[in-house]
Amino acid sequence: MATTGEAQPNQVSRHQEVGHKSLLQSDALYQYILETSVHPREPEAMKELREVTAKHPWNLMTTSADEGQFLNMLIKLINAKNTMEIGVYTGYSLLATALALPDDGKILAMDINRENYELGLPSIQKAGVAHKIDFREGPALPVLDQMLEDGKYHGTFDFIFVDADKDNYLNYHKRLIDLVKVGGVIGYDNTLWNGSVAAPPDAPMRKYVRYYRDFVLELNKALAVDPRIEICMLPVGDGITLCRRIS
Ligand code: SAM
Ligand code: CA
Repeated sequence: MATTGEAQPNQVSRHQEVGHKSLLQSDALYQYILETSVHPREPEAMKELREVTAKHPWNLMTTSADEGQFLNMLIKLINAKNTMEIGVYTGYSLLATALALPDDGKILAMDINRENYELGLPSIQKAGVAHKIDFREGPALPVLDQMLEDGKYHGTFDFIFVDADKDNYLNYHKRLIDLVKVGGVIGYDNTLWNGSVAAPPDAPMRKYVRYYRDFVLELNKALAVDPRIEICMLPVGDGITLCRRIS
């Protein structure tokens, strides 16, 4: 299986928008959202990064423009300053985050692939927010383990966005719950997994959707009963579950 746990190259989508994974049943309604409230307000650098990403063969992995706008708003609403992102790809959600943070805000950004991050980096630099980003190339889990071992990172993150290997989400959660502060938010992306979470097990599914579905189902079950968090599952993009740490 691919290491991304998300849409694969050359996947055929009924939608034309790059990064589009909306679960809305009407394409017209989704276009309406984009045309009315998203694209007209999209910062120039994000538009540029979206267009650069559109030319990349794995472009279906990118965060959609409406979800980028949502993340940007959320980060401002909670006044986040110290943040983390697991799964950067070309950096659309990263740029949405970086633009929302105050000038001294920080993002610890991790991805096993630096090359894709560097595709989007010129747009991030143009936006004047590259200084907020600490990019680490490599798998995220060992970095999280190191931070927990260090001791000084416990309860220090205001916001964490997880958008990487779906088969590791529960492993991330076990660690992130200690790294996010009480009152802080972890956002797990793709928790509706192409709508497959509600499909009968014998329904026809693309191979990668079927493979990761069980991991997503397991995560959703675990989050629903975790007493340390309050949760809210939103049908934005491919589904994002917000977890607010309460203890
Ligand atoms: N948030 C990104 C955006 O807005 O474009 C999309 C991220 S993409 C869906 C998933 C990313 O997770 C890929 O770039 C992949 O290289 C990365 N990834 C996969 N396994 C990983 C791991 N163990 N640690 C860190 N990143 C990983
Ligand atoms: Ca995603």
